Amino acid sequence: MSHRHHRVLSVASECAPLVKTGGLADVVGALPAALARLGWQSRILMPAYPGILEQVDRSEEAWRDDDLFGGPAVVRSGTCQGLDLLLLDAPHLFDRPGGPYTVDGHDHPDNPVRFAALSWVGAQLAMHGTVDRWRPDLVHVHDWQSGLVPSYLKYAGSEVPTLLTIHNIAFQGLFGPDQLDDLHLPTWDFHPEALEYHGLVSTLKAGMVHASRVTTVSPTYAEELTTPEFGFGLEGVARMRGDRGEMLGILNGIDTRIWDPAADPAVLPYSVENPRAKAENRRALLDEFSLEEPVGPLAVVVTRLTHQKGVDLLLETLPGFIEAGGAVVVLGSGDPAYEHGLGELASRFPRSVGVRIGYDEPLSHRMYAGGDLVLVPSRFEPCGLTQLYGLRYGAVPVVAATGGLRDTVVDATPANLADGTATGFTFGDSRQGGSIDAGGLSFALGRAIDMYADRESWLRLRETAMREPVDWGTSAGRYAELFAELVR
Ligand code: ADP
Repeated sequence: MSHRHHRVLSVASECAPLVKTGGLADVVGALPAALARLGWQSRILMPAYPGILEQVDRSEEAWRDDDLFGGPAVVRSGTCQGLDLLLLDAPHLFDRPGGPYTVDGHDHPDNPVRFAALSWVGAQLAMHGTVDRWRPDLVHVHDWQSGLVPSYLKYAGSEVPTLLTIHNIAFQGLFGPDQLDDLHLPTWDFHPEALEYHGLVSTLKAGMVHASRVTTVSPTYAEELTTPEFGFGLEGVARMRGDRGEMLGILNGIDTRIWDPAADPAVLPYSVENPRAKAENRRALLDEFSLEEPVGPLAVVVTRLTHQKGVDLLLETLPGFIEAGGAVVVLGSGDPAYEHGLGELASRFPRSVGVRIGYDEPLSHRMYAGGDLVLVPSRFEPCGLTQLYGLRYGAVPVVAATGGLRDTVVDATPANLADGTATGFTFGDSRQGGSIDAGGLSFALGRAIDMYADRESWLRLRETAMREPVDWGTSAGRYAELFAELVR
């Protein structure tokens, strides 16, 4: 075996710090550094959305095509904060107002074409390499947006191994079979064992069928995906890959260079050894939202405002939490009904509830630093990152016991408190007959309020939370093992 690093091409629709709508971006942006220590050199192929090329140093042409699904396209290589990027500059697909997937709350109508094009280019680079002769040993694709890479490689007869990571199975990349031809996909493979999902094409399913291996972002979610409740119709494929030992869960970590309360430029520095300034961050957060000092804990919520995230459960439960002495700051955007409901909550309790509708990265850091609790009542959660930031920053997580939340938070039961393993509060574990509902959340919040009143127990719980290893160490090792197995 040669001594050069192995090479992985990661194909993704978002990557922190360049463009982020959720956890996917954090993962794509953090893995390369963790993998580099294990002998894997990464390059990330992503779209050059507006403003992206300006953030990149030294951009050179790495690939071009005069007609990529209806327009000219150039891939430019460059670096940004240690990341090696390949940016797909295709103005007819990516140079437009709005976010990566939506404009004014609606999907870009040509999303299937846009991300099929990204996947097509990923496959071309995997097979033929870049102008500077960089060719990957393996391609790592993420979610529906790059789900077609394994299919394109297969149809071209390529044997480059592929790994699909599912960050959320609820988004499946659906479009009509009338588009197959335009997207260079063969009609003969449009059937339920391959591209078809109930009369439509699903790019996520295509990836689940064709990738050499499939992972998802926590062990519990990997099990859940094989059930109708969580599989969103893809449980059959999940079960098939799982039964063959070709699908597994690898827990996400967080980038502890960016998420470090002792070195975070957005907050007053503190650490588990010297947590004093945590109280000042709390004070500053209360002031920022003109809130009164609560008797009980200050909870924070940073989230997409969707049904998945249990925002309705929060709306139902928070009045009781506030009446019991709590306060809360919410940052998020999404469903207008939830935005409205949160606005009403803030008007009803102006000195106890702060709400910021929008997306604000520095504020999210100030919130984890200032919060006593971070609330994550998700109905399903592939991994979840906000509870990990909460652990790291000493905002003790209150979470639904599902998916990665269940794998990363240890409930403060008497036994777990006694042996010093408890890191937060969980509710609604279906394995124990529970369900994720307002009653369960309310009970967990009550336990948090009670423990908060017992200063000594509280500080011990918080310290255990802050000491929890949440970096990429272990999990990057598992990806590297899997990669090694695939290129052997
Ligand atoms: P998901 O990917 O399903 O949205 P995760 O918990 O895995 O959920 O990741 C969410 C990420 O997005 C976290 O880094 C969180 O801090 C961030 N985030 C979510 N909403 C906002 C917001 N309104 N402002 C700033 N950051 C946000």
